[in-house]
Amino acid sequence: MRYAVLTDVHANALALEAVVDSLESRGIDSVVCLGDTVGYGADPGEAIAVIRQLCDKTVLGNHDSAAVSEGLEARFNQWARDAIAWTRTRLTEDEVEFLRGLPMTATHQGALLVHASPLDPGSWRYLIRGRDASAAFAAFEERLCLVGHSHEPVFFECGGTTTRVVPVGKLEMADDKRYIVNAGSVGQPRDGDPRASYAVVEPDAGTVEIVRVPYDTERAGRRITAAGLPAFLGERLSSGC
Ligand code: ZN
Repeated sequence: MRYAVLTDVHANALALEAVVDSLESRGIDSVVCLGDTVGYGADPGEAIAVIRQLCDKTVLGNHDSAAVSEGLEARFNQWARDAIAWTRTRLTEDEVEFLRGLPMTATHQGALLVHASPLDPGSWRYLIRGRDASAAFAAFEERLCLVGHSHEPVFFECGGTTTRVVPVGKLEMADDKRYIVNAGSVGQPRDGDPRASYAVVEPDAGTVEIVRVPYDTERAGRRITAAGLPAFLGERLSSGC
């Protein structure tokens, strides 16, 4: 049993397509999505259609939530607000209903799925450093919690009272430790690597691997500009920042 974890697609159909192609060579049995399927990018309808068809479980992200609830965009920066306003004009009733129906959390193969943090998921906290994660470990019981939101792949490990960040790559989970893994972002990575990011989990082997997939970021950027979205949202795809 091996499953893929996709998150923060952000309406980037080209990145999502590259990731879906890459899944085929990896013997994936199922796929889950940690939210933010829309927002920032030019293809919200395509992204929703693919995620709906592909994923066994999908949870709600803050951009998904803002796209279907007036007023929630007030907490976002100007680019994100502009993108949410644009996204609202594009979503069909059926797509709105799909996003509204997404749960805040789910479980899959013994792992907890949540967009931002298991600690008060609706407040969309960021887990960046070890100390952000230590409080989050107390908020769930599973061995593994999978998150997105920061757009940076990260492995946090908790053993006893110690929480530390483990180098990203392929994680072999120790039997006496618990983990929070950020799968990175499919559609808008911000760790300096512009390639699409997702994770592959093998529960029986106790491994989690971050996979990076190159795609045409220039073309994806042009789609964003052509759609009338802020130019910066297109430009940042090529730098991965
Ligand atoms: Zn996001």
